[in-house]
Amino acid sequence: MHTTWYLSGARLVTAHADIANAALVVENARIAAVGGAAAMTPPAHARALDVSKFILVPGFIDLQFNGGFGHDFTAQPETIWQVAQELPRHGVAAFLPTIITAPFEKIQRAQSVLQNGAPENFRGATPLGLHLEGPFLNPQKRGAHNVAYMRLPDASSVRDWTPQNFVRLVTLAPELDGAREVIRALCENGVVVSAGHSMATFEEAQRAFDAGIAYGTHLFNAMPPLDHRAPGLAGALLNDARVTVGIIPDAIHVHPALVDLALRQKTAAHLNVVTDAMAALGMTPGKYLLGDFTVQVDETSARLEDGRLAGSILNLRDALVNLMRFTRCALSDALATMTTTPARVLHLENERGDIAPGYFADLVLLTADLRVAATMVQGQWAWYDAQELAL
Ligand code: ZN
Repeated sequence: MHTTWYLSGARLVTAHADIANAALVVENARIAAVGGAAAMTPPAHARALDVSKFILVPGFIDLQFNGGFGHDFTAQPETIWQVAQELPRHGVAAFLPTIITAPFEKIQRAQSVLQNGAPENFRGATPLGLHLEGPFLNPQKRGAHNVAYMRLPDASSVRDWTPQNFVRLVTLAPELDGAREVIRALCENGVVVSAGHSMATFEEAQRAFDAGIAYGTHLFNAMPPLDHRAPGLAGALLNDARVTVGIIPDAIHVHPALVDLALRQKTAAHLNVVTDAMAALGMTPGKYLLGDFTVQVDETSARLEDGRLAGSILNLRDALVNLMRFTRCALSDALATMTTTPARVLHLENERGDIAPGYFADLVLLTADLRVAATMVQGQWAWYDAQELAL
């Protein structure tokens, strides 16, 4: 039985709104009503909570998340639910568990983990389906992926990749032989297709967008650098209004000035902040797994032995603050990049990423200095800081 909540007094900020002294009613996992507190009456059966010292924002959505808190989803897909329980401490209410280049059996294992559903008494971020980053990638831009598992795109192997079978987003290199058929097949299945780990030229990228690619995975990383005579995939992603780009604002994957440039060019509606976090997120420096590889993690970055980056240890709350620092954008724009924009990329914009009647009650209470004080997922408090809030 769900508690009905009446939250009042907060400043409510979303991609489109900034309301002082707001109130909202949460009922049966969804938002039942929202507006100015002065004009609202709490339902008689609701539990009232004064949240006037907080900023109330939509729950964050991470489209690229490899693992955290000591666990790697590619090495061990069975840890997805356990890790999901930790994500609300960073304001994350929904995410795509990301499986990097791996044998198809591993992908099937990850699909089964989601198919089997949440364990009893689960309270955590909602996995919205998998992000399969591979195996159809270009070995020349392998990043921290295992080339041994990379293969050419093959439409027959993606037949059961659908949102119903827990595949939401697939990153592939569109210049590879067979990519066009796979892009078409996945789009028909309702899966979002992204270009990444790729050597695509500007022209090849444009043809891929024509074929249905709607997203670019971690702009600037694992693609040739932006060259003014050969703009390549990075130039095409920046230039084409049809595509949304993921970006990792940890000041290591991309220089802050180019994060700023990307936001100006794409706007918050087409820039999607992701963490690309790996197993060491929330842990101390040391050695951690990413897929088959051991990764050395220090205070700021995760790298293979040769220095190549291997995911990040960024969390979405810090990404929010970094984005505002790098670009001097408003809180509403920074929020858009991790709420309404990823929801739209996944075609879930009518029920996620915003605070409006009928939407899932995925909410975050931020302190005035933008720390996460509490996160509600589908109407239940999944995490809260007892120093800030008594529940
Ligand atoms: Zn990658």
